[in-house]
Amino acid sequence: MKLRKKMSILVTAGPTREKIDPIRFISNYSSGLFGYEIAKEARRRGHRVFLISGPTTIEAPQGIRLIRVESGIEMERAVKREAPKYDCVIMAAAVSDWRIERVSKNKIKRGRAVSTLKLVENPDILYELGKRKKKGRILVGFALETENLAKNALKKLKKKNLDLIVANRQYKNRDAFGDNYIDILLIDNLGNRAAYRRKSKQDLAKIVLDKVSRLGI
Ligand code: C5P
Repeated sequence: MKLRKKMSILVTAGPTREKIDPIRFISNYSSGLFGYEIAKEARRRGHRVFLISGPTTIEAPQGIRLIRVESGIEMERAVKREAPKYDCVIMAAAVSDWRIERVSKNKIKRGRAVSTLKLVENPDILYELGKRKKKGRILVGFALETENLAKNALKKLKKKNLDLIVANRQYKNRDAFGDNYIDILLIDNLGNRAAYRRKSKQDLAKIVLDKVSRLGI
């Protein structure tokens, strides 16, 4: 089988932080590990890699161009600027679905109780990329679900015009974000499915990139 040998790949990883005030934020448990493993494996394979990362504690991988962003809006700006230059975008970042409507300039003091935080939706970066996708470009999305894994993942694959979706389940007693060993389900744009159980994120990065290199060929 002919494979796409050398590609340019944009990878996003990690959570985003949405500020409430200069001291506080809302976010999620994403460690960024899966995205970083994908970026490192892609680099090992000789692809040109650019990593856009939300806040993580992971060290910058050697030899990979990396920029760090904080919020979903910053992530959107960076991805929109860079995506047109890459053959493939792998959107592993857990972008916050919401942000705070009005960020307070100063620390909100106790006593001046805020009983409600008004949230507004963040732009769906992947959906926007999917709408504008050019022929031959590859878009890979992630789906972390607590229920109806395959059904929800397939829905996202179609809605966001993806070529591949990497779905995994958030178990109540296991941490899909922090845990290095997870189960995933891959679904491609032809409806092919493949399930993998208790594999390390390093091994899954190889599996995802093997699949990417065969897409559309
Ligand atoms: O719809 P959901 O947030 O579950 O979709 C997850 C996928 O969409 C991930 O690949 C994630 O990086 C991407 N996403 C995005 N912009 C958002 C939310 C999610 O690009 N605001």
